[in-house]
Amino acid sequence: MIEVVGNVHMHTPYSDGALYHADLAQVALEAGLDFICVTDHNVYVQGVERYHGSADGRRSLLLLVSEEIHDQIREPQKNHMLAFGIDRELSTLAQDPQRLLEAVRASGGFAFLAHPYEEAAPVIGEDDLGWVDWQVSGYAGIELWNYMSEFKSLLHNLPGMLFYAFKPERGIRGPFPQTLALWDGLLARGQRAAVLGGSDAHGQTYSAGPVRRVVFPYAYLFRAVNTHLLLEQPLSADFARDRAAVLDALRLGRGWVGYDLPAPTRYFRLWAEADGRTLQMGEAGRLPKGGAQILASLPLSAHVKLVRAGEGVVWEGTSDRVDYRATLRGAYRLEAWRRFRGRERGWIFSNPIYLTE
Ligand SMILES: [Zn+2]
Ligand SMILES: [Zn+2]
Repeated sequence: MIEVVGNVHMHTPYSDGALYHADLAQVALEAGLDFICVTDHNVYVQGVERYHGSADGRRSLLLLVSEEIHDQIREPQKNHMLAFGIDRELSTLAQDPQRLLEAVRASGGFAFLAHPYEEAAPVIGEDDLGWVDWQVSGYAGIELWNYMSEFKSLLHNLPGMLFYAFKPERGIRGPFPQTLALWDGLLARGQRAAVLGGSDAHGQTYSAGPVRRVVFPYAYLFRAVNTHLLLEQPLSADFARDRAAVLDALRLGRGWVGYDLPAPTRYFRLWAEADGRTLQMGEAGRLPKGGAQILASLPLSAHVKLVRAGEGVVWEGTSDRVDYRATLRGAYRLEAWRRFRGRERGWIFSNPIYLTE
């Protein structure tokens, strides 16, 4: 399998971000990313999807355009949806999330629910923009970890805001426990639900009293919470083929969410051996009578938890390997935590492997 690393949630001046697509591509190339998905609010920007090359001509980056859609009339504001792989403007359907989901699929795309659990930050006048219309169906998954959304949850007062603006890595801890619980709930009910991690980068300048600062430049966020995907074949520079391969892997959850700032999560792998067949993250297979072996390899030793959705942690230890005999069907996922800046922080959150009847 070929690993590619990308960031899949960010904004440009077409909505409320600071840098345009070509500049984002250069920043992402410098950060070592292979692809980015630009997700402007309620605008599908046409004609900018393409490969971008680095200045030295050695590397290239696949830039894809998606859209973050929400109903701008709704009070209070809720329900941000990330629509990937679409081919037209769809924000006119934002009032009805189910109709919108169907339109996303009809246009060849798929959707993730953005920052499904959120906390308001009254100190900067930001509402909780979580997902509330849970009766909808037909989405590919949820955004498990949104960096800027977590940052927002740290802003309780002005001193705290200043502290975390300069030392964000002291505050960032991992996906909200509520989001993890939401996800496990979906999986335990038998739903296939992939996850992605997004920076939600805007590159904006914030002012707090005398301090004016670009908090969280794109360059910083592209080195923090990323989405790692496994592809069958290397990217080929054939744009249409590579676009389809990256989007398929994202939709199916063939990879993991990695906080690459404490230590790169590259080369993490989780797989299962069942009846002589290897199942990768995001894949489903029948659980043999004698059970299946779930295996993992981590780039560094970490506090690892293997979770069976609906049951909880089924194996836990400090290691760079996992070798677990699964005898019950269900969705199995791995999370790994590492000490960084004085405490344990989320590092790797895998997509599930589904062992079925
Ligand atoms: Zn949003
Ligand atoms: Zn956003």
